[in-house]
Amino acid sequence: MGAISKKKAAKMTIIEKISKLMVNQQNIRNVVLVAHIDHGKTTLSDSILAAAGILAPSTAGEARALDFLPEEQRRGITMKTANISLAFKRDEEDYLINLIDSPGHVDFSGKVARALRIADGAIVVIDAVEQIMAQTETVIRQCINEGVKPVLFINKIDRLIKELKLTPEEIAERIEIIYNNFNSLVSKFSKNTPVPNWKVTPKDGSVIFGSALHRWAISVPIVKETNITFEEIFDYYNDNKHHILTEILPLHKPLIDLVLKHLPNPILAQKYRIQNIWQGNPESIVGKSMIRCEAKEETPLVFCSTKVLSDPHAGLLVLGRIFSGILSSKSEVLLVNSNTKAKIQNVYVYMGADKKRIDNVPAGNTVAISGIKGIYPGETIVSPSADDLTPFEEIKYLATPVVTIALEPNMLRDLPKLKHLLEKYDVEDPNLLVTVDDKSGEILLMGLGELHLETIVKEISDKIACTASSPLVIIVERIQQASKATKKIMFGSKVELQVIPKKDLESLSKRETYLEEEQRQYNNIILISDSITENFGTESIDNILMGAKEALSKGPVIGKPVYGVAVQINTFETEEGEKFEHTIPLVRNTVWEALKQAKVSVQEPIYRIQITAPAIYLGKVSSVIKKRRGTISDVRSEQDLIIITGYLPVAESFKIDQSLRSETEGRAFWQMSFDRYETVPANQLPHYKKK
Ligand code: GDP
Repeated sequence: MGAISKKKAAKMTIIEKISKLMVNQQNIRNVVLVAHIDHGKTTLSDSILAAAGILAPSTAGEARALDFLPEEQRRGITMKTANISLAFKRDEEDYLINLIDSPGHVDFSGKVARALRIADGAIVVIDAVEQIMAQTETVIRQCINEGVKPVLFINKIDRLIKELKLTPEEIAERIEIIYNNFNSLVSKFSKNTPVPNWKVTPKDGSVIFGSALHRWAISVPIVKETNITFEEIFDYYNDNKHHILTEILPLHKPLIDLVLKHLPNPILAQKYRIQNIWQGNPESIVGKSMIRCEAKEETPLVFCSTKVLSDPHAGLLVLGRIFSGILSSKSEVLLVNSNTKAKIQNVYVYMGADKKRIDNVPAGNTVAISGIKGIYPGETIVSPSADDLTPFEEIKYLATPVVTIALEPNMLRDLPKLKHLLEKYDVEDPNLLVTVDDKSGEILLMGLGELHLETIVKEISDKIACTASSPLVIIVERIQQASKATKKIMFGSKVELQVIPKKDLESLSKRETYLEEEQRQYNNIILISDSITENFGTESIDNILMGAKEALSKGPVIGKPVYGVAVQINTFETEEGEKFEHTIPLVRNTVWEALKQAKVSVQEPIYRIQITAPAIYLGKVSSVIKKRRGTISDVRSEQDLIIITGYLPVAESFKIDQSLRSETEGRAFWQMSFDRYETVPANQLPHYKKK
């Protein structure tokens, strides 16, 4: 047997071992690593892998095994969520840790939300130098919303010693500040959420600290056990012998303790988690068996899909978590949201590039299934006999697409291939929208920022030669108030409708019920009253919808798409039989008229930006923001660093990385996330009209 096949054989035995461990729910931990970008999540996962014997210890910390995509290596950002299952032995007990790595860049926060649905516990990695940043707050909030327990790993302690030259007392103080701030965020976000009273403290080992890069970590219980003091750690660094720390304080020891002692197993977690993510009846058979994480032969199956990806061998693979029952290959299931029946082909233990078929997997585990087509992440899959068909809560993404680019294949003959590839991206990435203009054939990608789209384009152009336009910001037209009921008569047809800001829709008392058609992309909804749908066939209804959609696709001020509107069509009558050449313009013009009454303004997306840099760069960083029509709302200092928070039009954010890097000699870190839409200043309007 050659070297490679031996390695492969060793891996297979790990997978085999894992499939045996899936049966013992008490000893399973589903754990996600979350962090602000660059705080050291990926470096940390490597050290965990090393401990499990998958990577040789000498390469962990440098190999970054979870970042298996070449593009990610180059950018140094984890962009795809990678799942790895690890087998551990502790005190004669075998444990299974399903480790889910998640992206730290806010452009990918949709994927973080999905990774959390699978997990019961989260290790929040915080860089001791930068401390709690915007995305740290976001992920803590997402954890609480999903009922996922967060614990704390304070990373990069080596930098406090070597670069900031803090004393042991100052380091202790900083650790205290970090975990106190962490606890206040957890309790703030937990206020109206049914989760236990979670708090971390170094005393019991639920806060650990160390250096993922140098592969050591320590916790208060380990200090007691080993009698190693902070002063000694300093001495090793001062004598340039930090590699000894890797041996005497191996990172995986406090980390595995953290996971096994402080993060819940699925049985414990599902007791409170289910009410965070499922609104069905807790007294139904399905409800009860999910709360108990039951996996008896007669227990109904409930599975939540969190990710869809295409596998070269198995076709479309659906990743997700089993919350009740036993998932078996070749079984018949029901997809709740799409209300269709399907048959599961195979069930797999899934580990990044490796997967293994397995016949039956009980609740509490994460697996991949094949054989199901046309499924979106967030679908609920149940046994056909399930007594409560409430789907899981939608997985909440915290982001809105605000940047667009047009994409064109270099060779026209590649167009079908390109469209096919983009369909996959559209399904796999919750923050990406792909549209193909039927008339012009132009392909538009809409995403959360320049980097998000650039990354996708780079991946695609490695497979198909294509050219992308420069990024453009998505400008929209929004109404400020509801219109009056607006009537119009043309060619003997009559319509009466009203436009309302979508957010106000809930508060209106509706007299009638309506057919609802959503435009997810622009957060619009079109409602057609039942009195119309009862009197007209589908073709006429399609014409009415088409008229409304045409109006919404080109707003009345500068022809940009209308955002966040509900169009409520109350009556439609026609004398001469419905004709599309009359209906479409009638509805379109009436919607335009109603929009004008509702005070439309042209709005642009605004990012919230947070920049951390050494204090001497305050002036330069501020001027980068101000030159780009930005505003500064807060400046805080932490030791020798300043943290600047402000707001910046997305349109002015392009290539800001270059300005910030050159102005601060590469010493600034920053984070941008969509904050709100704001009216475009009058002097900028002509600029947008042209585009
Ligand atoms: P992620 O974006 O959270 O996955 O962060 P990475 O693991 O990619 O780490 C970001 C950068 O920080 C890389 O350059 C790492 O080498 C570095 N890094 C990670 N952990 C440590 C640490 O403990 N000490 C120091 N000095 N650098 C670290």
